[in-house]
Amino acid sequence: MALPLFLSLTPPDEAWRRLDEHLAPGPHEVEVVGLLEACGRVLAEDVTSPNDLPGFPRSAVDGFAVRARDTFGATEGLPALLTVGGEVCMGEEARFVVGPGKCVRIATGAMMPPDADAVVMVETTEDMGDGLIAVTRPAAPGENVVGAAEDVEGGDVLVRKGTRLRPQDIGALAAAGVSQVRVALGPKVAIMSTGDELVEVSCAPTPGKVRDTNSYSLYAAALAEGARPVAAGIMKDDYDEIALAMREQLSCADMLIVSGGSSIGARDFARDAIDSLGRPGVLVHGVAVRPGKPTILAVADGKPVFGLPGHPVSCLTIFRLFVAPAIARWMGTRPERRDVEARLGANVASVAGREDYVGVRLVLRDGARWADPVFTKSALISGLVASDGVVRIPADVEGLEKGAPVTVALF
Ligand code: AMP
Ligand code: MG
Repeated sequence: MALPLFLSLTPPDEAWRRLDEHLAPGPHEVEVVGLLEACGRVLAEDVTSPNDLPGFPRSAVDGFAVRARDTFGATEGLPALLTVGGEVCMGEEARFVVGPGKCVRIATGAMMPPDADAVVMVETTEDMGDGLIAVTRPAAPGENVVGAAEDVEGGDVLVRKGTRLRPQDIGALAAAGVSQVRVALGPKVAIMSTGDELVEVSCAPTPGKVRDTNSYSLYAAALAEGARPVAAGIMKDDYDEIALAMREQLSCADMLIVSGGSSIGARDFARDAIDSLGRPGVLVHGVAVRPGKPTILAVADGKPVFGLPGHPVSCLTIFRLFVAPAIARWMGTRPERRDVEARLGANVASVAGREDYVGVRLVLRDGARWADPVFTKSALISGLVASDGVVRIPADVEGLEKGAPVTVALF
């Protein structure tokens, strides 16, 4: 059989576009969970607040609830003298009126009496004895008061569909009395390694063999993105064995990741095996990215299938680039990514026409944040272990010089 000598390389944006065309946005499966289990999960529907927050006007400070007009013109020299008429008890309805020339003691969060429209802080008053206080500066109407519905209006969207719930979102839901939420389930992602040289992690590799790294790193990566990974094991470099195992795995999964054998060598069977799984089959083979060139993106009867390069660093780089966004899309969200700006700590070479991903370590030097490239011989996985994130060098750039401003995508 005549083999092509090289892969024709597709730019990563174009590669993603070709795959994305076939991905139906999620969420595809949902479950209901209690708020305490919801942090980090993807909200499957907009949640509206059933009621106003707060439900009544509240004091924002410890002090005295007043009718603002009773304090107008007050100064240090000529304070407004007010009679303390009582106290609003925390958690109780403030039914009584304050009345002209009077005030009531109030604590942070307590309900405002109906005729009070401001709170003067204890610090700006002086106790004159005999139930009298002196207010030394005027209070503006509304000062130190949280109005009813000022935080959230009943019926407003509290947290949007597709949000990865953060502690503050959970707090807002709790405040509104929403005790359960519908969240997206992640896709079932079957993960398979291929290669005659691979042995299980628990085995001591004999010379020529290596332990299966990718099953573990990909499982962890899929889990971190919210997917439900399934470890499908190691397959030999044998077309029939690989194709059969892929078919079996994909029948009970939503996506399939196969690492190894994704190039065009005589013993690389991933492409043909993936293409046999269903329509439309392979969409992209070869991406203009380093590391990660021998990448296969495919869809088999609606299910994404990824043929990732076996090299563990390439494998994880391509996972981040294509698999993580596909998992997020399946759940109706986007990958959670944080970027920081830094200055490149050393010159980095790159070939035009290819996007490069360089692992960097972040360090503070001379009052600036630097991204020091972590160079290892043939980009071993220890380089990724030592990295805090990656810098992308765009295809139209021929390398970057030391000191260049860069964006670091944090791991
Ligand atoms: P391949 O993509 O099959 O050409 O493999 C490229 C390199 O990655 C080779 O050195 C393989 O031994 C190595 N490799 C492939 N799969 C794995 C794996 N699951 N764990 C560790 N190394 C792997
Ligand atoms: Mg191989």
